[in-house]
Amino acid sequence: MGNLKDDKQRKIGEIVSIVKLVSLLFSGIAFLRHFFNGTSIEEVTSYSFISFLVVILILLSIYFIWSFSNVEKISYKYINIVQLIENIAFIVFFIIVIFYSGKNTSDCKFLFLFIIITSTLQQGMKQGMIVAFISSAFILALDLIMGVPNVQVNKYFENDLILAGVFILTAWPLGFYVKLENEYIRKLEGLANEDGLTGLYNHRFFYDALGEIMEISSKENSLVSMMLLDIDYFKIYNDLNGHQMGDEVLRTIGFILKNSFRKGDVVSRYGGEEFAIILPNTSEAEAIKLAEELRSKIEKTYFIGEENQPNGKVTVSIGISIYPEKAKNSIELFKSADDALYRAKFFDKNRVESYNSILDELKIDTEDEHIDIITSIKTLISVINAKDKYTYGHVERVVIYSRLLADKLELNEKNKKELIYGAYMHDIGKINIPKEILNKNMPLTTEEWEIMKQHSVNGVEIIKSVESLKEIAPLILHHHERYDGKGYPDNLYGDNIPYLVRILTVVDSFDAMTSSRPYNKRKTYQEAVDEIKRCSGTQFDKDIVDSFIQVIMESKNGLGIINP
Ligand code: GH3
Ligand code: MG
Ligand code: MG
Repeated sequence: MGNLKDDKQRKIGEIVSIVKLVSLLFSGIAFLRHFFNGTSIEEVTSYSFISFLVVILILLSIYFIWSFSNVEKISYKYINIVQLIENIAFIVFFIIVIFYSGKNTSDCKFLFLFIIITSTLQQGMKQGMIVAFISSAFILALDLIMGVPNVQVNKYFENDLILAGVFILTAWPLGFYVKLENEYIRKLEGLANEDGLTGLYNHRFFYDALGEIMEISSKENSLVSMMLLDIDYFKIYNDLNGHQMGDEVLRTIGFILKNSFRKGDVVSRYGGEEFAIILPNTSEAEAIKLAEELRSKIEKTYFIGEENQPNGKVTVSIGISIYPEKAKNSIELFKSADDALYRAKFFDKNRVESYNSILDELKIDTEDEHIDIITSIKTLISVINAKDKYTYGHVERVVIYSRLLADKLELNEKNKKELIYGAYMHDIGKINIPKEILNKNMPLTTEEWEIMKQHSVNGVEIIKSVESLKEIAPLILHHHERYDGKGYPDNLYGDNIPYLVRILTVVDSFDAMTSSRPYNKRKTYQEAVDEIKRCSGTQFDKDIVDSFIQVIMESKNGLGIINP
């Protein structure tokens, strides 16, 4: 933020330092003249010599203290006070020089020009004019006070009237120029930080502001909430109504956003039809409340042609996360809000979701002796997530669905826990699969498939030595078996596949269908439900599919999703 302005201030600061240094040098010359005035070299007393040295020393120390006291470190709050003190110090100093060098007859009155120029450059027209008036008033008053009463024409006053005119005529146009330039800089910064279509902040500004806000919050231990908002089915809107109408929707939503937040909030258009809002000092509950109001406001707003949208309206989905509770830094804050947005989209859009880390939640209901295992497995999963950009959030979602489905199927506590642990760890064997295969954006070759299929066997190898995870092994080994026996690795079929495994298979496949995969287009929520119904009885256990669809339908209506 304000890079142009900072840069300009820094450069002006440099040039102004030189001007001030020169003014001190001129003052030094004036002192020199005063101390050695009329004396031949023999007559120079040690007193006047020492006085001279002292004055030079004082001048140099003023300069060094002032130029090396790192101006950038002075907070913006105090910069005006510091500059005011500096101006006063210079004016007082020049007054002393003038007194020493002949009062009204002094030829050092021009020194004021230096401080007039520097204060105008740094602080603008108003300050420059004030300094110019004070300087003019001083020299003219001095002429009047010191003037010889009998002499009719006060020559010094006459000359100084011209000098006062020069003072004012320096401050005024220079100040005007500084003002114009500042206005241009403001305009340029506005253009550089603004999104042309909506007038909101742009992507670049969002990141600049996020960096600054996070820095302040980590220092002050304060909260930062983040909201990511994405328009639902916007591609369809564009396809049906044309891009210009689409732009109009973006503009209207931009307008609603601009008027829905507080002064310190940063509302930006992050990308095409995605908006990101940073809310400093805002609790998660407040952010959820604001997001919910916003969602409903947009739902109630009429947009031309919205009748043809899949849900009959133009709506948005919103994901929320909060620092420091759910994210340690800005990257995690964004990722977790994005994960929450993904979940909001997944549960049939037009909803607000806040981020919940299932992995962290798992720790809560894990006995102390297993916490370490959970932690190391969490590390493995984060490595897999880093390797395979398509699985981000997959594990977490599979755990959420498993938990919901376990309740629907009325599993006992032991089985429920096993299912959730299995859901948590089912892809752990992917750690050994090369990144190129995981991220390949074309169908895999036969050999690559064979390597990929190894992940279930590899997974069991990884957890084999952990006695307490023995019960989970079948879930990892068989989660790709099919009810009709066409799965892998053991071609198990029907009820030979353990019950918990059959549950996990449905949930895992459903999430895979609705996630972006390198070579498969993401299915919509409804398409995935249809697909899972189609494969019921062949790939999947029919009873489990029926229950899962019920779970999904209930979740869609908002049952226990914000806090699964
Ligand atoms: P979802 O509900 O899952 O968000 O689906 P979607 O169709 O909104 O999402 P997707 O990301 O597939 O499509 C985003 C669309 O937004 C694609 C593009 O046509 C549209 N879009 C992006 N930027 C602009 C823009 O500046 N103007 C217009 N009119 N459309 C845009
Ligand atoms: Mg999008
Ligand atoms: Mg969208």
